[in-house]
Amino acid sequence: MKNFNKGFTLKFLFTTTMFVSFILTLFICAIIGYRSEMASLIKNSLDHNQIHANKLAATADVLLISAKRSLAIVSKSVGEGDSANDLQSKLDLAMAGNNVYNSVFITDNEGVITQSSPNSLGVVGRKLTSEGALQSIESKKPLISDPYIGTTGRLLVLISHPIFDEKGTYKGFVGGNIYLRGKNIFETLLSNQMPIEHGSYLYVVSKSGELIFHPDESRLGQNVLENAAVQEVVHSKKGAIRIKNTAGVDMLAGYSPVDSAGWGIVFQTPTQELLTSAINLVFDMFLLSSPFILLWMVLCYWVIGVISKPLYDLAQFARRLYGQDQEREPLFPSKHKLNYEANELYRTFSKAVTSMQSHINELSFEATKDPLTGLENRRTMEMLLQEWIKNQVPFSYIIIDIDHFKSVNDTFGHQKGDEVLKFLADKLKELTRAEDICCRFGGEEFVILSPQANSSESYRMAERLRLEMENTVCPIGKSITVSIGIASSPKDGLVLPEIKDKADQALYSSKNNGRNQVTVFR
Ligand code: GH3
Ligand code: MG
Ligand code: MG
Repeated sequence: MKNFNKGFTLKFLFTTTMFVSFILTLFICAIIGYRSEMASLIKNSLDHNQIHANKLAATADVLLISAKRSLAIVSKSVGEGDSANDLQSKLDLAMAGNNVYNSVFITDNEGVITQSSPNSLGVVGRKLTSEGALQSIESKKPLISDPYIGTTGRLLVLISHPIFDEKGTYKGFVGGNIYLRGKNIFETLLSNQMPIEHGSYLYVVSKSGELIFHPDESRLGQNVLENAAVQEVVHSKKGAIRIKNTAGVDMLAGYSPVDSAGWGIVFQTPTQELLTSAINLVFDMFLLSSPFILLWMVLCYWVIGVISKPLYDLAQFARRLYGQDQEREPLFPSKHKLNYEANELYRTFSKAVTSMQSHINELSFEATKDPLTGLENRRTMEMLLQEWIKNQVPFSYIIIDIDHFKSVNDTFGHQKGDEVLKFLADKLKELTRAEDICCRFGGEEFVILSPQANSSESYRMAERLRLEMENTVCPIGKSITVSIGIASSPKDGLVLPEIKDKADQALYSSKNNGRNQVTVFR
């Protein structure tokens, strides 16, 4: 599992931040786009629906005025006592001339039908008792009824015009029926319109708020006066409004009155239908902008890489510097060109590391080596010995002391004495194995730590050294001699003081027995 305590890489952080901000920006743009599109769609739809309602109302008005006039013409003709044939042809003209009526007829003052068109209806002689007919006879005025079920069982609206003779006596009325179901004036109206979009539809109400036209025929005759648009339109007002319709659906309604009939036309669109258009727009926006966004993201990703790479390299370098392979000189990361801050960091870091390394080298030399001879110092020796004892490494401890060194100093001076010490140190290195550790123990005493060597092997090596010194001219122009004592672990002990003590005893024996000799502790 990833260790989160280590922190996230710069590249990861940048990329994540960038990605999140892109998504957020897109999201906000989408919301703003959607909202403004929705607002403009609603406004357009309201305007459009009002224009539509106005046009429909104007058309209906023209049709109805002409239809009413044709009834007046028949009425006048009846009043003047025209022949039945003349009346029939005028009735037929009223019927066919303006596509408004489904049937037209003449009644007497009792409401009995005397003539009809189409003639084939077979209603002549029938007495009308329907609501519309009674109203008409009673008022003796031109009238447009509310919807009612007629004598024939049909849902209809009656338009009537009274008949008076030359003396002004009421003689009945001329009526025109508009059937509300099946083919009628409203279909004629709709067929003249442009194609209707977004689930829009039209309905017509009578002056008392009853539906006289609706795409859902089962609702015809229903009173919808509670609808805000209907309330306006029955008061002869025109306009557009966002409303909840009778079924509770959010609608954008345009409305306009048909003045000649007192009707109202409402043209409306479900708001929900516009949603699809708005969503499509947002989707189009996404689609259109996505290649640019992708390109931009790739570019940003590349730039982030350029910025974070030098820092990553530097971090890797710093890790190598103190990592396991720190003995090997870590390769300094190549200088980067694009990023000024990274370049500065590299320059400073490189300087700091170089100076730190040389300091460390100096310090570690001072801490571990004897400055005069370059051999390991006593501290290093003690540390090594402790390590070997702990790990039970078998070794020989060989202590070497220059014979009568005081007189060397006394005779040739301290400086010559130092040269002799260096000379002996070189000989030690020359005559020991690579794995042997040569130390300056202090003054003119030296120690060789010889790992994995027993006392007889060490004795041979010590003898070689003793003979070499005895037979070599050293910086004072003659040879010097050394006395040597040897103790070994584990043979002579497993703890340091014991081994050192025994080696000292052996050296003491060498000195006592006349110097220039090697003694192995027994
Ligand atoms: P022995 O054979 O008994 O070892 O006699 P010695 O004279 O070598 O022994 P002693 O311990 O009396 O003298 C050691 C001398 O080593 C004393 C001191 O002046 C000298 N010495 C110690 N350290 C240094 C050094 O760093 N440089 C020089 N030139 N002489 C040193
Ligand atoms: Mg000494
Ligand atoms: Mg000495």
